[in-house]
Amino acid sequence: MEENNKECPKCGATEKQYRNGQNKSGTNKCLCGVCGRRYTPAPMKNAYTEEERQQALKLLVSGMSGRAIGLQMGMSKANAYAWAKKKERGVDK
Ligand SMILES: [Zn+2]
Repeated sequence: MEENNKECPKCGATEKQYRNGQNKSGTNKCLCGVCGRRYTPAPMKNAYTEEERQQALKLLVSGMSGRAIGLQMGMSKANAYAWAKKKERGVDK
């Protein structure tokens, strides 16, 4: 889990940013130790559109590697690969 890049949206502090549990969708919530603001850090980069998924799947089926798909689609190669693999197994989650 990445613990960096937390920044309070209210006061801009990057120190004393504490994890404060998760919301229902599993997103981490954070608490600013400077001003007390509770916030949700920048969403994780896994929100791709169905169109992008289909495109990536097409590339995978055409024999393209996860790395190449990552480059082509502008997503992290680990992300593209893991998820292409899931697609391969018919798991769409
Ligand atoms: Zn703050």
